[in-house]
Amino acid sequence: MSGVFSRDFAVSTPLVERAEGVWIHGADGRRYLDAMGSAGVIGIGHGRSEIYQALAAEGSKVSYVYTASFTHPWQEQLSASVLSVAPEGMSGVYFVSGGSEANETALKLARQYHVARGETGRHKMLARWQSYHGVTIATLSLSGRTSWRAPYDPYMLPVVHISPPYNYRCNICGEGGDCTDHCIEELERTILMEGPETISCFFAETIIGTTASGVTPGPDYYRRVREICDRYGILFICDEVLMGYGRTGRAFAIQDWGILPDMITCGKAIGSGYAPLGAVIVSEKITGFFREGKRRFVHGFTYSGHAMSCFVGQKVFEIMQREDLFSRPAVTGAYMHQRLGVLQQRHEVIGDLRGRGLYAGLEFVADRASRDPFPESANFTARLVAMMRERGVIVGGGVPGANFGKGGDHIQISPPFTISEGEIDRLIDTLDEVLTSLS
Ligand code: PLP
Repeated sequence: MSGVFSRDFAVSTPLVERAEGVWIHGADGRRYLDAMGSAGVIGIGHGRSEIYQALAAEGSKVSYVYTASFTHPWQEQLSASVLSVAPEGMSGVYFVSGGSEANETALKLARQYHVARGETGRHKMLARWQSYHGVTIATLSLSGRTSWRAPYDPYMLPVVHISPPYNYRCNICGEGGDCTDHCIEELERTILMEGPETISCFFAETIIGTTASGVTPGPDYYRRVREICDRYGILFICDEVLMGYGRTGRAFAIQDWGILPDMITCGKAIGSGYAPLGAVIVSEKITGFFREGKRRFVHGFTYSGHAMSCFVGQKVFEIMQREDLFSRPAVTGAYMHQRLGVLQQRHEVIGDLRGRGLYAGLEFVADRASRDPFPESANFTARLVAMMRERGVIVGGGVPGANFGKGGDHIQISPPFTISEGEIDRLIDTLDEVLTSLS
């Protein structure tokens, strides 16, 4: 018996021998199609040995330097690379080790920006229900994932949550509506009720991931969010830890809305699992304020801008560019969504199909007309995920209770960006088979 604590003691976790492309090979000889991209992390596919070969050849020159005292070529190169694909107007990158650290860094930077400008009253944050921003106390406070917050509620920071534009279950705009008007109205009303001078930033997953599986705002939503945030001096931060860095078929999902946020956070695909890496991409409004005032951001992890992680990040970037992986998910994703659309027509239990590019969320319902969910006792998602796994396909299970307390049967599909049409067929055919036997 090993002593690993970071696991669910109720389930058995297969030992992995190796992983290549979209396939994970277990030590027991079984292989699994990684249709979840290992929590949405894997962009360039598993098993790219060229990365570690390059690391051995060049990266070993500097394994670690403290980035408060020195910089190193890979942090410099990677920041230029990231900015070359980021929305115009972004001019700074702060490297960290993952998504929670990126969001924690962004919320602190927002606070320090306001304090340095004399607006010390701005301490509250705005975020949305049914969102996920991380596991540290600050990022859990931002998260609207109630089941994960519950045990820690006494520790939560001052975050005010508003409705996400979840039009499939919206009582206000109804079937097929676009939640933009009332969500924007709620955003402004909340700001006015709380006092604009008390609010630091608004955090939003550009497209909501794990907690609501692909909830995507209407075409005008973020332009209006931007306008309101500007009106009240509030910073707007896009969490693209899951959706950024190519997954939606754009380098960053927000590029589809054509606006400039004050910060974009990323994680997952930027390191693609080859090293722990995350980043906060900072607009010139904030970068320039710090640079011109010769200010120091009072923050820093021992591993901020870690040399090996940045080296790996740069190699991942080079592969992404070489193989067109910042945009290929738009093409393979269109194929995947088209096949899922056909599946939705065939299976009444698929109430809603959401997402963009190589991210798809499927919400299941007991009755398509009323949209009534399955009772939690039916354990629909858990059974579906287990049956997929038995057939060698890994998909992500949604979060119970996510649908405003009405159950929460949904799955997410977020394969590596290298997945082929044949592998997508395999995934969808397996899902078809499982849904047939579940209904
Ligand atoms: N933000 C989003 C949107 C995420 O999906 C995640 C992780 O799933 C995080 C933040 C937290 O990232 P990490 O687990 O790397 O801390």
